[in-house]
Amino acid sequence: MTKVNAGFLELQRNYLFVEIAHKVAAFKEANPGKKVISLGIGDVTRPLVPAVVSALHRAVDEMGEAAHFRGYGPEQGYEFLREAIAQHDYKARGVDLRTDEIFVSDGAKSDIGNFQELFAADSVVAVTNPVYPVYVDSNVMAGRAGGFAAGRWKRLVYLPCLKSNNFVPDLPKTRPDMIYLCYPNNPTGTVLSREALQGWVDYARREGCVLLYDSAYEAFIQEPDIPHSIYELNGAQEVAVEFRSFSKTAGFTSLRCAYVVVPHALQLSDGKGGKVALNSLWNRRQCTKYNGCAYIVQQAAAAVYSQEGRAQVEAVIRGYLQNAELLCTAVQDMNLEVFGGTNAPYIWAGVPKGMDSWGFFEHLLQSAALVCTPGAGFGASGEGYVRLTAFGTEEDTAEAIRRLRALR
Ligand SMILES: *Cc1c(COP(=O)(O)O)cnc(C)c1O
Repeated sequence: MTKVNAGFLELQRNYLFVEIAHKVAAFKEANPGKKVISLGIGDVTRPLVPAVVSALHRAVDEMGEAAHFRGYGPEQGYEFLREAIAQHDYKARGVDLRTDEIFVSDGAKSDIGNFQELFAADSVVAVTNPVYPVYVDSNVMAGRAGGFAAGRWKRLVYLPCLKSNNFVPDLPKTRPDMIYLCYPNNPTGTVLSREALQGWVDYARREGCVLLYDSAYEAFIQEPDIPHSIYELNGAQEVAVEFRSFSKTAGFTSLRCAYVVVPHALQLSDGKGGKVALNSLWNRRQCTKYNGCAYIVQQAAAAVYSQEGRAQVEAVIRGYLQNAELLCTAVQDMNLEVFGGTNAPYIWAGVPKGMDSWGFFEHLLQSAALVCTPGAGFGASGEGYVRLTAFGTEEDTAEAIRRLRALR
C-alpha cells in the first residue's frame, strides 16, 4: 500500500489551544451569566485603517474595468509594493536591498513553513524554548526533528530563553545548520539588543549557519536602540533570511500579505564543492508552487506606506501598546514578575509561587473569568509563566484589569 510522509505521523497534537478551548467551554457552561474575557488571543481586533480601506476600494474598482483588470501577477509580488518595502522598511533604516531580494506572499506562516524546503533533509535545526510552533512542526513534517521523547525532539537543538539569561538565548553548544529567531518574541514579548543580535550574526558567519529571522512584530518596537531588521547588523545579508508580515503591523490577519527577504549574498553549499544562492532557489520554489498574492491586497499593503497609512497604523499600534502598559502595571501590582509588553503586544507574566502555568490559568479562569495562555504550552522552558496579549479591545482590557486588581 502507498505510504504517507511519516513526518506527519510524528507531529504532536497541539493540545494547547484545544485544551484551553475545552476548559473555557466548561467554565462557560457552569457560569452562564459571566462574561469571559480572553487575554490569550494572538489576533488583532481593531479594524483596517482608512488608508487601507480606500486602497482596497480603488483596487477592486480597477479590477472591474477592462482597461485595468489584472490576471496572474508576478509570483514575487508587484514591483510597486517591493519598491515601497525596500524604501520604507529598509532604506529608511540604512539597509540597501534590491527589490528582487524581496518576495511578497500571502503570509509569514506559510513563508516560514515553506522555507525549510530549501535545506538538506539532514540539516540540524535550532529553536528557542519557548517557541512559536510553526518552526518546529514544519521541520517535523520534513523529517528533520527525529523522534519525540520525554518532551523533546531528538534532533532539534533547543535554546532556552529564561529569566536567568534575560530571555536572550545562549549560543548553541553544538553547531546547527538553521537557527530560528523571533524578535520581538512571541510568546515572551522580549527583544534582542543590537549587541545580542550581532552576536548571533557573528556566530552564524563563523559556523556557517543560516539565521531564519522572524520579525513579524517589528512595528511594535518603541526603544530606539532595538534593531528592527536583522540587516541593520554587520554581515547579516550573508547569513540571514528575514520574515515580515502585514498581519500584526496593519491588521492584515484576514487580508493576508507578508514578505520574505532573501539577500543575493546568502549562499550555501551545493554539496559538490560549489555554492548556490538561496535567492535563486526560493525564486524557483515560488514560481513552481505559488501564484502570487492578490493585486487588491498588495495595493492595500502599499497603502500602509503612504503618509496617512503610516500615521493611522502607528496610532493602532500605540493603542495596543497602551493596553500592554496597563496590563503590565496590573500584573506587577499583583507582585508577579513581568517581561515583555514594551516593544511587543505580548506580556510574559511569572505565575505565583506554588502554582504552575496551568494552575494559574485555572485560577484566573475560575476566579476572574479571564483566559490566558499557559507558558508550558510553548515549550518546557515556558513553565512558570503565562502569556497575556494586548490585542483585546480597550474596553475588554480595562475590564480585565479591574478583575485582576479585584483578585489581589
Ligand atoms: C502572527 C505571527 C506571524 C504572522 O503570520 P501571518 O501568516 O503573516 O499572519 C509570524 N510569526 C509569528 C511569530 C507570529 O506570531
